[in-house]
Amino acid sequence: MNNTNIRWTQLTWNPWSGCQRISPACRYCYAETRAEKFRGTPAFSNGFDLTYRLHKLREPLKRKEPALVFVNSMSDYFDERVPDEWRDRVLEVMRDTPHLQYQILTKRPQVMVDYCERREMPENVWLGVSVELPLYLSRVDLLREARGPGPKFISAEPLLADLASALDLSGISQVIAGGESGLHLRDSALRARRGMSDPPPGKPNAVKGWIPRPDRIPWAQHLRDACLKADVAFFWKQWGGATTQSAGYILDGREWSSQPRTLGEDGSWRDFAGRVIYSRRAPSGEPNPSAIPAPSH
Ligand code: SF4
Repeated sequence: MNNTNIRWTQLTWNPWSGCQRISPACRYCYAETRAEKFRGTPAFSNGFDLTYRLHKLREPLKRKEPALVFVNSMSDYFDERVPDEWRDRVLEVMRDTPHLQYQILTKRPQVMVDYCERREMPENVWLGVSVELPLYLSRVDLLREARGPGPKFISAEPLLADLASALDLSGISQVIAGGESGLHLRDSALRARRGMSDPPPGKPNAVKGWIPRPDRIPWAQHLRDACLKADVAFFWKQWGGATTQSAGYILDGREWSSQPRTLGEDGSWRDFAGRVIYSRRAPSGEPNPSAIPAPSH
């Protein structure tokens, strides 16, 4: 597992890598850019081609401290080409490490629904879908259908439209949202279509100091307000720009980084309402039997 600067998680774990584009959000996929950049190296010998990484499979078993883990940041866990056997091995590791919280995000929710019908997902697995445009809101309906006791979350990143008015948040525990980042956004025409921030005046090649666009700020506010109204955790990741740090993540004067589960000082995972989901004081490897069960979503 690797440390990451993805702000809504702590570690990434990639038992396989590689994917295929499926929607407009994939156009500037960071995973593809990175994997292709290192094609032929030990890290990504096959570039962004689908590649099973057996040597990564058991890494979580070595991690004794609780953590949030983003599974398959360099692919889509529910890629249609991935055999169930690969997912089953990962599922076994996730079951054996209840002190870790696993975040699985997909743009292929029908595959997720079908898999979760065939398998019991443990409660330390969060299921999420990516939605960048209203056209893909049906993914959220499928997310609601997916069987699993863990939190359900939406990633609206890159946010390419004002989504909030059509978004049904019932059964959803968290919305993560943010702008797009990448050097392609130095192109003003692209920025007009996809960008949420602009470079500082007179500095089109600047990497820092980008400014949230006045016409896009309401998109973030609307999502935030919908989450507050529905008592759903809201995480504003970034305004985007040339890099993930170009314009920061302050919205209306403050940071918004709520999680559906957080780690308490005593090593317990607590849900959004503050109830204990998992306590480290329980025997190693076993959920605390006195913990209040997670709400089913
Ligand atoms: S689904 Fe995700 S990993 Fe796959 S191409 Fe699209 S953005 Fe990249």
